Amino acid sequence: MKKDICSLSYEEMKKEVEQLGEKSFRAGQIYEWLHVKLAEHFDEMTNLSKPLRERLKEEYEIPEVKMLERQISKIDGTNKFLFRLGDGNVVESVLMKYKHGNSVCISSQAGCRMGCAFCASTIGGLKRNLAPSEMLGQIYRIQKITGERVSNVVIMGTGEPLDNYDNFIRFVRMLTDKHGLNISQRNVTVSTCGIVPRILDLAEEDLQITLALSLHGATQEKRRKLMPIANKYDLSQVLEACDAYFQKTGRRVTFEYSLVHGVNDTKEDEQELAAILKPRNCHLNLIPVNPVKERDFVRPSRKNALNFKNNLEKSGINVTIRREMGSDIDGACGQLRRHYVQECDS
Ligand code: SAH
Repeated sequence: MKKDICSLSYEEMKKEVEQLGEKSFRAGQIYEWLHVKLAEHFDEMTNLSKPLRERLKEEYEIPEVKMLERQISKIDGTNKFLFRLGDGNVVESVLMKYKHGNSVCISSQAGCRMGCAFCASTIGGLKRNLAPSEMLGQIYRIQKITGERVSNVVIMGTGEPLDNYDNFIRFVRMLTDKHGLNISQRNVTVSTCGIVPRILDLAEEDLQITLALSLHGATQEKRRKLMPIANKYDLSQVLEACDAYFQKTGRRVTFEYSLVHGVNDTKEDEQELAAILKPRNCHLNLIPVNPVKERDFVRPSRKNALNFKNNLEKSGINVTIRREMGSDIDGACGQLRRHYVQECDS
């Protein structure tokens, strides 16, 4: 099998090139073709000799991340992409345009095994982990297709990034490497359902990325109803891990809370949420749940969501309601991929 050349770090590329008996500056050239000029074929690498290009083709591959579909929102310019990977699996990514720059939301796995009750991405289970090159590839293709620079990356698409830990860490290091796209670590956010040992590992990686924790319930009981992972790690352990992340990195943790009407949006929920977040230096992001066809969760009215937010604010919590982007396209969590996979199955 050919080696995945796009998952090699800059240092590893130097060693590979050395082993091929080539001069070391070639490593910088190849790395630049792949991670700055975003080449998709070895033949584009015109400053390499033909024999070297042939040699690379024999031993390495540039894993395929090919656009299958692109939807553009007429409301806010949000772009949704469906990509096909080399083995036929599909993943989706979203480009959101903000005043402060372009933000891309990428997938970390094809499918997901976490089983959260309201999420479309987990319905067909986990197909496989994505390689670092396939996570980078989503961003590279989007930057190339749109011709616009990506400044922020959120790992909040399909999959649980901390369930694909090593590839995810390698991806972050390469994304923020000065020899590549050189995105600031502070502009990268990883969202997790709360795999406690991996959050503790992440705290030790010496990275400056933002940790977003999917909370969705303010008590162990409530959380367990929505998220199977809560059967494995108690809410108190999850919160302790988030505290450790803050202490180690100095990065304020974001808590995500999908508001589901009648399930976690009551007065009691509000008070319990305030009680656990009040002592913490954190940010709360409320996400009115996106309805998923296969599930019957309903979002609260705009008025109720605003009330929930305002009351938390009065309790001194730093809170926002996530702005809905691309509501006229398959914008919500995992739905574009889901539609595609369903069509192929039927
Ligand atoms: N596995 C990671 C990242 C992917 S999901 C995680 O669990 O955090 C990104 C965020 O979207 C999570 O907070 C997730 O719970 C939330 N989410 C998933 N489906 C949703 C839906 N239908 N409506 C609102 N939020 C949803």
